[in-house]
Amino acid sequence: MKLCRIKTPGGIKPAAVDQSGVLRNLSEHVADITSATVMPDSLQKLADINLAALPEISGDHAAFLSDVRRIFCIGLNYYDHADEMGMPIPDHPILFMKACEVTGPTDPIVIPKWAEKTDWEVELGIVLGSRALHVAETDAMDHVAGYFVANDVSERHFQMERGGQWVKGKSADSFAPIGPYLVTKDEIADPQNLSMSLDVNGKRMQTGSTKTMIFSVAHIVAHVSQFITLHPGDLILTGTPPGVGGGQKPPCFLKAGDIVTAEIEGLGDMRQEVVAYQD
Ligand code: ZN
Repeated sequence: MKLCRIKTPGGIKPAAVDQSGVLRNLSEHVADITSATVMPDSLQKLADINLAALPEISGDHAAFLSDVRRIFCIGLNYYDHADEMGMPIPDHPILFMKACEVTGPTDPIVIPKWAEKTDWEVELGIVLGSRALHVAETDAMDHVAGYFVANDVSERHFQMERGGQWVKGKSADSFAPIGPYLVTKDEIADPQNLSMSLDVNGKRMQTGSTKTMIFSVAHIVAHVSQFITLHPGDLILTGTPPGVGGGQKPPCFLKAGDIVTAEIEGLGDMRQEVVAYQD
């Protein structure tokens, strides 16, 4: 199932894609897509609906979840990205957080005030569907509701040159676009075999596959749950493949007017304009 939230003149409406690829309005079944919606019993109820019988809906996509409380992120989780950054392969997943709100897949990316090096990172995102504490890697996927495309937008100057830790460079407004859909895990046969890419102004910058992750989705969920209780609706961004702006020779970064498109196999794509900060 592909769940999303659609901007309409009457407000944001919950929606799902039917078998023919048509977007259907879920309003008569749920008021919104929330952390409660992504729990297993709720997802099962939605899966039993005959979507084709519901009214069609169209509009821009808002973020697919209305009440995200926490965005966890894994750093340097691809062998080929660690290589381009000249960083050693981590012994354990590097965990950090983004402290901003999520935005939708066509909302603008705003270059922050005082930014110098605003960069892109296409990433496979995970949505937690149930509470997870001290879970084993073999049980970890039971706690995953589904997947999505994310861009871990990063201001490298804030991240690297303004004192620790990374949260400063990861948390400006608009730095956590997600979507277009929450794709439930039953639709993705193998999360460790998805191609992914990111273009800037039509030029391919990132090409990768979740095959080259250092720590798998299951390993990440299990690992984070050793330290932190995960809850339904928590998001985890699982790291980026090579091709970020800071890894180019010479490095290059986003500027107002750029168009960023990010895509992951089976999950859809995001297309966003970069805009300047306005006081
Ligand atoms: Zn990242």
